[in-house]
Amino acid sequence: MSEQVTRAMCRWCHSMCRVAVHTKDGELVKIEEDQTDPRVNMIFPPTRACVRLAGAKEFIYHPDRLKFPLKRKGERGENKWETISWAQAVSEIAAKLAEIVKKFGPESVATTTGTGRTDLWVWQRFMNVLGSPNLGGQGTI
Ligand code: SF4
Repeated sequence: MSEQVTRAMCRWCHSMCRVAVHTKDGELVKIEEDQTDPRVNMIFPPTRACVRLAGAKEFIYHPDRLKFPLKRKGERGENKWETISWAQAVSEIAAKLAEIVKKFGPESVATTTGTGRTDLWVWQRFMNVLGSPNLGGQGTI
């Protein structure tokens, strides 16, 4: 199958560059700036120099990339892990959160993050439903 080019928007940071994603047989070949973007030589020179974009293939296909939840086996610091299902991970985390909220109240849970992304509202809504106002970080500031 020949190489395909799909136009997309990168959301790895706030620049939201328009990009051209090259794929072949379902595999990423490269990502580069979208030359059809009228802003390409005006306000989006970061796309050309972006190290994230240049390293996208390595990021996506790196053998050490985490793709499934890992649960610690043994003692902390032993660096022993087992792969668990998403359902098990969500269930165990939910049970622990419920236990903390029951023992210490919802305001005992606090979170922080870097700058906001499109999923910031999900995190804010989660904390709202949990009953804790304690979320902070650049995005909320
Ligand atoms: S291509 Fe680079 S500069 Fe542009 S949005 Fe993605 S990460 Fe940010």
